[in-house]
Amino acid sequence: MIRQAHGRACPRQKARIAIRGAGCQPLPGCANIEDVITIDLSRLLGTELDKERNIIHVGAGGRWGVVYNKLHPEGLACTGARSSLNGVGVLPLSGGLSFFGTREGFVCYNVVNYEVVLASSKVVNSNQNENSDLFVALRGGGNNLGIVTRLDLRTFKQGPFSGTAPSSTSHRASPARSRHW
Ligand SMILES: Cc1cc2nc3c(=O)[nH]c(=O)nc-3n(C[C@H](O)[C@H](O)[C@H](O)COP(=O)(O)OP(=O)(O)OC[C@H]3O[C@@H](n4cnc5c(N)ncnc54)[C@H](O)[C@@H]3O)c2cc1C
Repeated sequence: MIRQAHGRACPRQKARIAIRGAGCQPLPGCANIEDVITIDLSRLLGTELDKERNIIHVGAGGRWGVVYNKLHPEGLACTGARSSLNGVGVLPLSGGLSFFGTREGFVCYNVVNYEVVLASSKVVNSNQNENSDLFVALRGGGNNLGIVTRLDLRTFKQGPFSGTAPSSTSHRASPARSRHW
């Protein structure tokens, strides 16, 4: 599966593509590159809570605040960014530190399924039973193995809690960055 994503179905071409989630990662060249095509996922929004399976389905272009607002009234939470303004996409692909990290582990360990578009344009699910090698590799694989379009995250019961995180004024002030929530 990984070879398919990397090699056979994706002949080595010079075309470069950038993938942008919510665009919150402030490093130059991280979610955008000059003079190339940027695939912008910021309209892949929406959440759906599956109460029976304790899973929330999350569009990869959203922000964590939308996820938390959906879970909070149900007395539920999930591992996610410590700032609700942050983009959903990259934490489950890169590790991810949440307020619940010491109890629940990295954000990526709480993903039960990734929906991924491979370089072949095939859309696959990747979880413990289906494309399981890709599932392991995506937990830290970043944008190297495909474009994740939906994340299915484990939820857990959670009452009120208090936590602090460093915040950036410019991050909050930017209407472009905060428009989706
Ligand atoms: C103020 C601030 C607070 C932060 N707090 C935390 C924190 O508490 N915990 C923590 O772990 N991190 C934290 N971060 C880092 C955080 O992980 C990112 O800023 C943010 O969540 C990135 O998500 P995004 O969707 O905006 O990614 P983008 O900035 O859009 O993209 C980042 C990278 O991920 C790739 N990518 C994004 N989405 C996808 C996708 N769907 N499929 C494939 N590749 C993709 C992009 O190509 C790019 O390389 C913080 C950052 C900031 C600026």
